[in-house]
Amino acid sequence: MKKQITIAIDGFSACGKSTLAKALAAKLGYSFIDSGAMYRGAALFFYRLGYVSDKHLNEEAIQKSMQDLKLRFKISGSKNCLFLGDENIDNEIREAHVAGIVSKVATIKAIRIQLVKQQQEMGANGAIVMDGRDIGSVVFPNAELKLFLTANPEIRAQRRFAELQGKGIPQSMEDVKSNLTQRDHVDSTREESPLIQVEDAIVLDNSELSKSEQLQWVLELVNKRRESV
Ligand code: C5P
Repeated sequence: MKKQITIAIDGFSACGKSTLAKALAAKLGYSFIDSGAMYRGAALFFYRLGYVSDKHLNEEAIQKSMQDLKLRFKISGSKNCLFLGDENIDNEIREAHVAGIVSKVATIKAIRIQLVKQQQEMGANGAIVMDGRDIGSVVFPNAELKLFLTANPEIRAQRRFAELQGKGIPQSMEDVKSNLTQRDHVDSTREESPLIQVEDAIVLDNSELSKSEQLQWVLELVNKRRESV
């Protein structure tokens, strides 16, 4: 039997990380965790409490109520969705009010400590594909396969715009572009676990690849890796 491995996928916003991770996990029979959804869930929770908006951030209040943040993934219908307590927040976390503040919330050390711990527990037995910004560097530094995804910014914006339209979430192309630029900047320059390309990551620019070409390319890589570990 081939060895079960841990696959870490990092990269800039809207590079198709979650799409690839989900398809890969389905093919391999692994679990899939979208770590970005967890940061979005945290942002929504603190937004509702009034501790963060596009204009302010009350870090002290956030730290004091960290223990009340209860996020988990649960199957709803046929989809694995993010829940805040008993509420399915999978759609709301994609909306503009969350996209606009999530990177600010993700700079807070206390939040990262709690979510990273939860992510490491979910991946304790391997056989997992997780995507995010710090998966290969912090969450699973020993992952057997690390990928760093990139794509042309114009193509990324178009893909995210189409995705939001498909979900019935209204946002102008201009807003999508500026949100991606702003998040990439904050994510790459923050002090705590910034987005970096770790040395042992394999870089994949998927600007010119279809989803199935990309999946095929990565599956070959996975198979080679599983034979060699
Ligand atoms: O992956 P997604 O674009 O949904 O992530 C939303 C935001 O969550 C990112 O822009 C980043 O600020 C934060 N994030 C993070 N670390 C991760 C995953 C996401 O800081 N591992």
